[in-house]
Amino acid sequence: MTSHAFDTAPAGAACPFMPVFGPPQVMFVRGDGTELWDANGKRYLDFLCGLAVTSLGHSNPVITEAISTQAGRLLHVSNFFTNDAATAAAISLRDLLFETTGQQGQVFFCNSGAEANEAALKLARKFGGRGRHVVVSAYGSFHGRTLAALAATGQPAKHEPFFPMPDGFRHVAYGDLASLEASLDPSVAAVLIETVQGEGGVVPADAEYLRGIRALCDERGMLMMIDEVQTGFARTGKWFGFEHAGVVPDVVTMAKAMGNGFPVGAVWARNEVAAAFVPGDHGSTYSGTAIATAVVSAVIGEMRRIDAPALAVARGAYLRDRLAAIPGVQSVRGQGLLLAAELGDGSDAKAVYTELLARGLVTNAVTATALRLAPPITVSEAEVDEAVALIAEVVAAHSKAQGATS
Ligand SMILES: *Cc1c(COP(=O)(O)O)cnc(C)c1O
Repeated sequence: MTSHAFDTAPAGAACPFMPVFGPPQVMFVRGDGTELWDANGKRYLDFLCGLAVTSLGHSNPVITEAISTQAGRLLHVSNFFTNDAATAAAISLRDLLFETTGQQGQVFFCNSGAEANEAALKLARKFGGRGRHVVVSAYGSFHGRTLAALAATGQPAKHEPFFPMPDGFRHVAYGDLASLEASLDPSVAAVLIETVQGEGGVVPADAEYLRGIRALCDERGMLMMIDEVQTGFARTGKWFGFEHAGVVPDVVTMAKAMGNGFPVGAVWARNEVAAAFVPGDHGSTYSGTAIATAVVSAVIGEMRRIDAPALAVARGAYLRDRLAAIPGVQSVRGQGLLLAAELGDGSDAKAVYTELLARGLVTNAVTATALRLAPPITVSEAEVDEAVALIAEVVAAHSKAQGATS
């Protein structure tokens, strides 16, 4: 049994946080590479990375150095001006998108994945023009918690408490091109899609499906907007998930691993699309803030230096093979180092997750029956072996208990 990090009596009053996340189970105080330590000095292996965020590991010296150097030089100026850190990061990001799409484009920096999607949604409306503002996205998707990003998120249960939702959103079955086509009319400005549904259970899209969306967007003059917030920055074994399918998006949203834990996001659009925005259309106090953008340059530089995409392929294959060999793991899905181990009907991924946490391994029960694994791209084979041994033990004990009760 894991205990809660806060005494929840009486009525949770001791906890200083609003109750949106449920009672926190662990209080972490320090991290180094793949390792984390809690307030009691207990060590954990982090196979979740704050949800695919700390891809270069905790306390990565390159990132720490970038933050501390920039902190001693310049944190922030207003958007009436630019700064050298933001300019360098924008050029690095533009170059990366040019390499992966062959398109020249421009970027807008923000602070989170939801904000990146908000900017993309506004860009789609501006590009589409009056009367052409609808954005189609997939059931099972996750695009963030702000109101418009939530409206794009294809999970009706998350909408219900906040009705009425903003207008102009439509959802179709993920992976089903015919249902996408059937949803289209002249009011549709864009399709917003994940190449792997992360929160939706680590479900990769078929390359054919993504290419089909591209073809429909070309045919109808709609924007293909790809949400790479979870899949971007080498997580899937390519810089961006869309590269696996060889499709070229018009708009890409990013966050999570782009800051390795420093809050930052961005939207990229090819030049003709970015040009739909004019001064005053969008903004954020922290857009292009020097401290965050110094981190973006450091992340891109370090990921290039270690060839993070190739490393994610190699370590991903190593982890995947070992997970698949565990009796009680029915299948493994995902790409690179964004994986889910399916434990099968009748299993209880939450119970397995809880026991793993108690034994010092951080994972996530991404569905009722599947564990999500997203270790740092810098994870060692020895750390994978250690984690897989723990998963094998806990899954074996769990299967036995399931067998006994069924
Ligand atoms: C996490 C996530 C978001 C939201 O990002 P935040 O930084 O939490 O706002 C959006 N899209 C996808 C695909 C995500 O995984």
